[in-house]
Amino acid sequence: KEPTDINALADEFLRLSYHGLRAKDKTFNADFKAELDPNLPMIDAVPQDLGRVFLNLINNAFYACNERAKNNTQTQAAESYKPNVTISTQNINGTIVVTVKDNGSGISEENIEKIFQPFFTTKPTGKGTGLGLSLAYDIVTKGHGGNMEVESMVGVGTTFIIKLPIS
Ligand code: ADP
Ligand code: MG
Repeated sequence: KEPTDINALADEFLRLSYHGLRAKDKTFNADFKAELDPNLPMIDAVPQDLGRVFLNLINNAFYACNERAKNNTQTQAAESYKPNVTISTQNINGTIVVTVKDNGSGISEENIEKIFQPFFTTKPTGKGTGLGLSLAYDIVTKGHGGNMEVESMVGVGTTFIIKLPIS
């Protein structure tokens, strides 16, 4: 572990993800935003590990926006859909709260119970391993003494909430 600037990490991995996804898929785009709390203390963390967590959450969010856009095309609702992915940081009562929010497809009640399980994926073969969220969960909880939750509604979007203790 080393003193880590969570804002810098969030910003870095948002850019990394954006450029990686743009390079892969030139037919779909989403608005990527960072809303970073300027009064965030440094925390002891493993930056490569947390970076992987952010990257996986952002990539999942982008994928979910793309899924929603595809469904919209079928239902003719495409015109008004503005896909967006936002990573935010906050300092709330001695805890760093990082959220990754999207207005993508959302997760059904049935699936939301399973998303943190290893190998659970709804993606076609070759597109997902189902390991991203289980790994992210372990990195946040076991690796950093934090916790991770999800809120989602089908057709509205999904927010992942990570809480990391300060000190
Ligand atoms: P993978 O991305 O390889 O499928 P993950 O562990 O990262 O594996 O995610 C597991 C599953 O959780 C995904 O296949 C998808 O069904 C669901 N999921 C994760 N993030 C989102 C999201 N932001 N919006 C909708 N569904 C999501
Ligand atoms: Mg994933």
